[in-house]
Amino acid sequence: MRHPLVAGNWKMHGDRESVAGLIAGLLEIGCEAEVAVFPPYVYIPLVAASIGNSDVDFGISIGAQNVSEYDSGAYTGEVSCQMLRDFGCQYTIVGHSERRSIYGETNEQVAHKFAAVQSVGITPILCVGETLEQRDQGKTLVVVAAQIEAVIERVGLDEVCEAVIAYEPVWAIGTGKTASADQAQAVHLAIRQQLGELGEKTRILYGGSVKAANAAELFMQPDIDGALVGGASLDANEFSKICKLA
Ligand code: PEP
Repeated sequence: MRHPLVAGNWKMHGDRESVAGLIAGLLEIGCEAEVAVFPPYVYIPLVAASIGNSDVDFGISIGAQNVSEYDSGAYTGEVSCQMLRDFGCQYTIVGHSERRSIYGETNEQVAHKFAAVQSVGITPILCVGETLEQRDQGKTLVVVAAQIEAVIERVGLDEVCEAVIAYEPVWAIGTGKTASADQAQAVHLAIRQQLGELGEKTRILYGGSVKAANAAELFMQPDIDGALVGGASLDANEFSKICKLA
């Protein structure tokens, strides 16, 4: 059975005070699903220490929102996979649509990052998804399959199936528009079919304006194994409700 995962991407939000408040809320959640949070880099040690000092009895993990594809060297402003591991990260998001659209990350660069993350024993969360234009042109499944294929070509199918995939339609991220449960399930099923038998164990998350009000229907779909939550993960109460529904 696939253990549901609810991941909170805090993006570039927060300060020490709000992070402390969010952590306090997180430690209260208590749910069956695994919970993971993705703070901005500078707050990772604070979150890790707070979780480490607590006595929570449910799974709560920490990850980074991005990482360098390089091991070390003259890459000003970058953070390596080894550094993330040093600070206790179990996950790293790779290929978030904001990285692809704002910073021009290509499928090949995302594949390189994915390989680097896995090589240090961190689990990548590979984000894939189509723009509205691509959906309107009927290209959703082709675009998503190509994003995954680029990573399979680099690391092999087995490694991709060990990771987590997040289907995040670009038009649904931060817009308040959610894919319907049927639309999301159709893409999740196509991803699972692309992965074949090995993909039965792969957790495929849905992301795009997930809230407590729409999470239950999404989580009822057979191929949706949790969520990658942006905006709603900044509200401990709302995030907690989503986690409990997974
Ligand atoms: C995200 O950042 O991955 C995301 C899904 O954001 P939101 O939930 O705000 O749409």
